[in-house]
Amino acid sequence: MSDAVSRRELLSKLVRGSVLAGMGGAALFLVKKANGEIVWQVDASRCVNSRLGEVGVEACTLCTSECVVSLSAVRAVNDFSKCGRCNVCPAYFDITSAVNELGLPSQKLCPRDAITRKMIGAADPEDPANNFYEYVIDEEKCDGCGRCVMKCKAPLGLGSITLKVRYNKCLDCNRCAISLSCPKDAVTQVPKMAGLEIKLAEHTE
Ligand code: SF4
Ligand code: SF4
Ligand code: SF4
Repeated sequence: MSDAVSRRELLSKLVRGSVLAGMGGAALFLVKKANGEIVWQVDASRCVNSRLGEVGVEACTLCTSECVVSLSAVRAVNDFSKCGRCNVCPAYFDITSAVNELGLPSQKLCPRDAITRKMIGAADPEDPANNFYEYVIDEEKCDGCGRCVMKCKAPLGLGSITLKVRYNKCLDCNRCAISLSCPKDAVTQVPKMAGLEIKLAEHTE
């Protein structure tokens, strides 16, 4: 067999192999999709509401308006392991509103009043900065508008609140309507992660 022929055969085998591998990968993806192991999810590193450096701009509300479910399947979720439990939380208060008699902003940020604020431990009346609060999002009220997410990041917040597609609310559309309109391609299909069903008891008591 000449060198030219053996090279052609080798190339042909390689092409056949990569096509079969590609078909195998696609088949495996479809099986995982059918089994509910592949789901739509928001990539916080791409979403403009979470991305560091995206400040001084309006929150992107497309996760609310584009979802085919009437109250979007996307909700804001507070990761309590990252939350600073701040006295003046920029995701809870509208920090541009007038200060009230308690020395706090007089307006809340959330348009659906979906966030509650509860003191942790005993109050220190001498030093408000020494008082800590738990901020719990009521996911039955939240529609994933992202306004609190935009505020809960540097320089004022710690980035503990992000948007998540809640699997038990999502219809798992073949092509997610939000992903089609997302300006940052931040809604993608990923392996399902445990613990992202709605759990209202995640917070500490
Ligand atoms: S549409 Fe995209 S950028 Fe806008 S809030 Fe949703 S994930 Fe973020
Ligand atoms: S995402 Fe919007 S509706 Fe949900 S808690 Fe945050 S501000 Fe409220
Ligand atoms: S897959 Fe469908 S139901 Fe789920 S978040 Fe996207 S548009 Fe909403």
